[in-house]
Amino acid sequence: MPPVKLPVFFHEDQLHHKPVFEWAFGEKIPHPETTCRVESILAELEAHSPRFELRSPEQFPLALIKETHNKKMVEAIQSAASLPLGKTFYPSVFPYHRDKSNLDSSNIHHAGAFCFDSGTPLNATTFAAAAWSAACAFDAAKLVASGTQKYAYALSRPPGHHASTDLFGGYCYFNNAAIAAKVLRQTHSRVALVDIDFHHGNGTQVIFDRDPSVLVISLHGDPNEHYPHFTGYANETGSGKGKGFNINIPLPGGTDGQEYLHRLSAEVIPALQRFEAQALVLSAGFDTYVADPIGAFCLETPDFLSVGEQFAALKLPTVIVQEGGYESTSLGRNVVSLLEAFF
Ligand SMILES: [Zn+2]
Repeated sequence: MPPVKLPVFFHEDQLHHKPVFEWAFGEKIPHPETTCRVESILAELEAHSPRFELRSPEQFPLALIKETHNKKMVEAIQSAASLPLGKTFYPSVFPYHRDKSNLDSSNIHHAGAFCFDSGTPLNATTFAAAAWSAACAFDAAKLVASGTQKYAYALSRPPGHHASTDLFGGYCYFNNAAIAAKVLRQTHSRVALVDIDFHHGNGTQVIFDRDPSVLVISLHGDPNEHYPHFTGYANETGSGKGKGFNINIPLPGGTDGQEYLHRLSAEVIPALQRFEAQALVLSAGFDTYVADPIGAFCLETPDFLSVGEQFAALKLPTVIVQEGGYESTSLGRNVVSLLEAFF
C-alpha cells in the first residue's frame, strides 16, 4: 500500500494580499503577517513531499462565509476590491455604536464599523485572499466530513480566529476555523474547536457563544498583558444554551513546552472527552514558539509534535487550520512538526 498522504489546501491568490505595516500603540511597524510565512510552510512541506499532497480549493464558500459573518461586513471587505492597486486602507475611525443597519458597505470610510483594530488593512486583493483562505478550511473540512480522509490541513492565510460575526481584526477577515467547524457540524452532532494560537480566539468565541454543539477551548497569553486584551478571561464560558461550552485557559508569558503540554493533558483533553467530541478543528497558531516576535511563550519545535500527539491520540476526524506564527524562519519546521502527529 502506498503511504497515506496528508491533504494540504492552498490557493496561490492567498499570496496577493500584502499588508506592509501596521499601527501598534502609536508605532508604525512592519506588518508581521507577510507572505514569507506561507513560503516557509510550503518550502518545508515540499522538503517532505512524499508525505503531503498539495491541493487547490475549488471555489469561494460564499454562502457559508455570509452565514458565518454579517453580510454587510462581507460586502465591505469585498468592496475594497475596487481600491486602486497598491492603495491600502486602514480603518481608523470607529463608530460609537455598532448598529450596522444604516451603513453603506460600499463606502470604504464605513469599513471601521466592521473592524476592531488598526492592524488589519484592506486593499484590492484582500477579499480574494481571505475568501480563498476560507475555501482551504471549507474544502479540508468537506473532505474530512465525507470520511474520505481522517485528517486534512488548511494552509489558511490570512488567518481567521480573530474575525467574529461582524468584526474583522487581528490580521483576520473571515473565520476559517469556524467555517470548518460548521462544515463538520453537518455530519457530526458534537464538534470541538481547540485554539492553540498564542492569542485568544476572540472571533471564534463570539461565533459559537450560544452554541452547545460546538465546544470552543482556547489556550493563550493572559489578555491582561496580551492581544486582544478585552477577551480570553477564564470567566467567559458561553451564553444561553452555550453556557459551559466555552473554555478559556489564559497562561502567563514565559510558559514553556512542559507546562503547556501539562495544561493540555490535564484540562483540554479531559474536557474534549467529557464533551464526547465527534470531530475536531485545531486552530493551529505557532506564535507560541520561543522566538516568535509577537508571542511570549517558550515552545520549541519538538513541542509541536507533542502537542499534535495529544490531539491525534483522540483518533477523531480532525481539520488543522493554520492561524498565526510570525517567526517565518522556523514556521515551516514547526508546522510540519505538529502535522507529523497526524500520520
Ligand atoms: Zn496569534
